[in-house]
Amino acid sequence: MYALVEAYNPAAVTNVMCRNTISVSWDGWLYDCDFNQMLDLKVASKIKHIKDYNEDILNDRNIIISQHCYGCTAGAGSSCQGTVA
Ligand code: SF4
Repeated sequence: MYALVEAYNPAAVTNVMCRNTISVSWDGWLYDCDFNQMLDLKVASKIKHIKDYNEDILNDRNIIISQHCYGCTAGAGSSCQGTVA
């Protein structure tokens, strides 16, 4: 964990996948990303399920972050599409 914190790259934050992608569970619940889905951290929005999907409202939410986010922002960054910085 310490190595990830030491490798934090602010430039990677711009392109982390939670800023342009949403994760949907098999039963329709919405998450900022697959990592948050595995931790059962649903989006911080009044829209929490795909049946109520509203892009404008979802775009206005705060992304739930925690220590695992250092995995996306260390070094060249990381996402489903590869590096982000
Ligand atoms: S782990 Fe954190 S930084 Fe990475 S995509 Fe999910 S919410 Fe964003």
